[in-house]
Amino acid sequence: MSFIPYGRQSISEEDIKAVVDVLRSDWLTTGPVVEAFETDLSAVLRTPTVVVSSGTAALHAAYYAAGLGPGDEIVTTPLTFVATAAAAIHLGAEVRFADVQADTLNLDPTAVKHAMTDQTRAVVPVDFAGHPADLGDLQAVARDAGAMLIEDASHAIGARYDDRPVGSIADLTTFSFHPVKTITTGEGGAVSALDPTLLETVKRFRNHGLVRNAVEFVLEEEGAWHQEVQKTGLNYRMPDILAALGRSQLQRLSGFIDTRQTLAEHYHETLEDVDGIRLPHRRRNVQPAWHLFTIRVLEGRRKALFDDLRGQGIGVQVHYLPVHLQPAFLEMGFRRGMYPIAESAYEELLSLPLYPGLAKDQQDRVISAVRGHFGC
Ligand SMILES: *Cc1c(COP(=O)(O)O)cnc(C)c1O
Repeated sequence: MSFIPYGRQSISEEDIKAVVDVLRSDWLTTGPVVEAFETDLSAVLRTPTVVVSSGTAALHAAYYAAGLGPGDEIVTTPLTFVATAAAAIHLGAEVRFADVQADTLNLDPTAVKHAMTDQTRAVVPVDFAGHPADLGDLQAVARDAGAMLIEDASHAIGARYDDRPVGSIADLTTFSFHPVKTITTGEGGAVSALDPTLLETVKRFRNHGLVRNAVEFVLEEEGAWHQEVQKTGLNYRMPDILAALGRSQLQRLSGFIDTRQTLAEHYHETLEDVDGIRLPHRRRNVQPAWHLFTIRVLEGRRKALFDDLRGQGIGVQVHYLPVHLQPAFLEMGFRRGMYPIAESAYEELLSLPLYPGLAKDQQDRVISAVRGHFGC
């Protein structure tokens, strides 16, 4: 029996042709195709967008554009991939966590309010499993404190909140195009921003901080070769080769979301009567992207179900060990017991396979295996 992973890219012949066309062209790295991908993304997100080399680079660049540095703090969720917090630490900022809401496992606005201090510069929700965070209330909490709302939407491209696309709501929104995410460029990421001057900062940061516009020069221009660095950046550029894949994938985004939703509905219909598990909750004002289908396994049976399914070639996964329990964060003084809702969710969470290429008979194999484990 073939192994079924929890997530997987979907690559079409059109995707392959788009990449090969760039390989035959004069330009491989950041050029006209990156620009076209940015135009397309900006249209889909209804917000100006810049692409970078990964979701982690997107977070680093967004935090940089928000002005984060030593003495500043962000408040974020412990139930995320470690990059959400780590990127802020690499700018010298401090990370505070606030607990999550019990239904969606997204950052709780009330907990954020309690965690904020005079140093808080940004509130950073993550759209866990592709379900948009409580963006309206979080935005109000952030605004009241003069902080920015920076949304890590690595799970949520194509999701909607109050019928607006994720990417058009927070001050800055970041995306990842890693192969398990909804659309892929192999490795890649993007930042959208309501304020275009923030995006100019992102663009400069991704290309070493190089300034090429003569009216901004600080040094005297000695010749047409002149370019200068006023604030250092990094190389976070996406090559045109990968942008071609992203552009082609973006055309398939709504189809991907529809397929994910159909698969999620099938899981709901076929698993809702199983006593030992709870299915993911969906709020009425959102359209989730269904990046993950995360069930809660009750009564301490998560590990047994994980081992059983893996033993049957079903690639279930656990998202995530809360970030504050990682050794690097325990060393900063975080302790077990600080965020009880996230911690108890972690004990129960299990992600079932969900991706556009998951065939009906493969999904039914997963469903039978889960039902079988509980003797139904
Ligand atoms: C995938 C992911 C990232 C990192 O994205 P990369 O493209 O792998 O660097 C950050 N945050 C979350 C929530 C993610 O799921």
